[in-house]
Amino acid sequence: MSKMNLYNTLTKKVEPFVPNIEGKVSMYTCGPTVYHFAHIGNLRSYIMEDVLEKSFRYMGYDVKRVMNITDVGHLSSDADSGEDKMLIGAKREKKTVMEIAAFYREAFFQDCEKLNIKTPDVVEPATNCIAEFIMMIERLIEKGYAYVAGGNVYFDTGKLENYYVLSNQNEEELLVGVREDVEEDRNKRNKTDFVLWFTKSKFDAQELKWDSPWGVGYPGWHIECSAISIKHLGEKLDIHCGGIDNVFPHHTNEIAQSEAYLGHKWCNYWFHVLHLNDSTGKMSKSKGEFLTVSLLEEKGYHPLVYRMFCLQSHYRKPLLFHYDVLDNVKAAYEKLRKKVASLDREGELQQEKMKGYEDAFVCALGNDINTSQAITVVYDVLKADMNDASKFALIDRFDQVLSLDLTKEKEGNAADADLTAYIEDMIQQRNAARKEKDFARADAIRKELLDKGIEIKDTREGTIWNL
Ligand code: AMP
Ligand code: ZN
Repeated sequence: MSKMNLYNTLTKKVEPFVPNIEGKVSMYTCGPTVYHFAHIGNLRSYIMEDVLEKSFRYMGYDVKRVMNITDVGHLSSDADSGEDKMLIGAKREKKTVMEIAAFYREAFFQDCEKLNIKTPDVVEPATNCIAEFIMMIERLIEKGYAYVAGGNVYFDTGKLENYYVLSNQNEEELLVGVREDVEEDRNKRNKTDFVLWFTKSKFDAQELKWDSPWGVGYPGWHIECSAISIKHLGEKLDIHCGGIDNVFPHHTNEIAQSEAYLGHKWCNYWFHVLHLNDSTGKMSKSKGEFLTVSLLEEKGYHPLVYRMFCLQSHYRKPLLFHYDVLDNVKAAYEKLRKKVASLDREGELQQEKMKGYEDAFVCALGNDINTSQAITVVYDVLKADMNDASKFALIDRFDQVLSLDLTKEKEGNAADADLTAYIEDMIQQRNAARKEKDFARADAIRKELLDKGIEIKDTREGTIWNL
C-alpha cells in the first residue's frame, strides 16, 4: 500500500493516514441540500473528495464511501434558526418538498456525471432514516446528553469536556456570531446547544413531519450525518469530508453527538475543502443567479474544463473563480487532450522507464492530494524519453484518479480525434522532410492528404489544414 499523508482538521497537521482496518477505508461525505441546483463551489468540494476517494483506490485501498442527501432539517441558518431550506425551495417553485428533493437530487447527480464524479457506494436520503435518528436521540437522552425543552430535544454541549475539538472557536467568538444574526433560543441550557428534534418552530408550515416520542416533528440537520454514517460504516469511521464551512457548527456537532452516543472516539481524519469564491465573496445559492455547471456549458466550457480548473489548485487553498483563468485552462485542456490523442498506442510498454513516473504520480497524491503536482507528472510523461505506447498507458492509468477523459475519445467524435491526430502527424512528417530538403517526400505527403480531401497551406504562423 502506498503512503498517504493528509492534512487532518482534527490535529491541524499533515499526518500519515492509518485506517482502522488495514487496507480498508470507511469514508463519509456530507451530501447536498437538495433545494436548489448545486453551484460550482459546492461541486469544487465534491470534485476534490472524488479525487481523495479515487486516490485511495488507486493506492490499493478497499473504500466504502457513504453520502447522505439532506432533504429535511437544514435550516436557512446553520444554527437552529430560520426556515427549512427544503420548504424555501418548495415555496419558490410552488411544488411539494418531495418533488423539489427528487428534482434537485437528479440534477445534482447529472452535474456529478458531467464532472466525472463517481457516485458514492451508498447514497442515503435523510428522510429514509427517521427511525435511526429517533433511536439515537432516545439513547442520548438516556445517557444524559440531551434534554427536552419547550417541545424540542436539544443536545447539551455543557456535558462535554471539549466541545470545540474540531474548530478553534471559543465561546466568546461564537457569542459574537450569535448576537449578530441568530435570535436567542431561551430553551437552550447553553448557547451552543443544538436541536436534535423539532416539534416547535416559528415556521410551523413544515411539510414533512413524523411521529416521535416527543411529539410530531422533524429532525435537526446535524443528527442525520451521524446516524447515517454509523448505520452504514459502523462505530469507527476513518475519514469524514465536507466543505470548510461544515467545520462549525455541523461537524463539531456531529462529533459531539456521535461520541456521546457511542462512548468512544468516532472519526480519526477530517478532510475539508476550502471554498471557491467569486469576486463578490463566497458563492451561495441564496444569492440570486449563481454559477452552475449548465451555465458554464452554455458559455461554451466543457464541464471537465472546470474539473481541471479545480485540480490545478490545492484543495486547502481558497480558489477564486474568474472566466479569464477558466479560458486559460480551457486552452490548456484542449491542447493536452489533442497531444494525448496523437500518441501512437501500439508498441511494447517500457516498464522500467514508466516506473519513475508512476511513483511520482502516487507521491503527488500521497502528498496531501497535491493535484497540481499530479497534473505536472502528466506533462512530464508527455515530454519523457519513452515510446508513445508507454506514455499513453501511464496517462490512461493516471486518469483513473484525475478523471479528465484524457485518453477517451470525445463522445461521437472518435473518428474526428483520430483524423486530427493523423493529420497533425502527417504535417509533422512533411515539415521534417522539408527540413531535410526531401521535397519529393514532402510533396508525396501533401498529395496523400489531398487525396483524402485534406488541403494544407503553409502560412507564416505554420501549416494549417482544411477538410
Ligand atoms: P450544501 O448543499 O449547502 O449542503 O453544501 C454541499 C457541500 O458544498 C458542503 O460540503 C459545503 O461545505 C460545500 N460548499 C458550500 N459552499 C462552498 C463553496 N463556495 N466552495 C466549496 N464548497 C462549498
Ligand atoms: Zn453532514
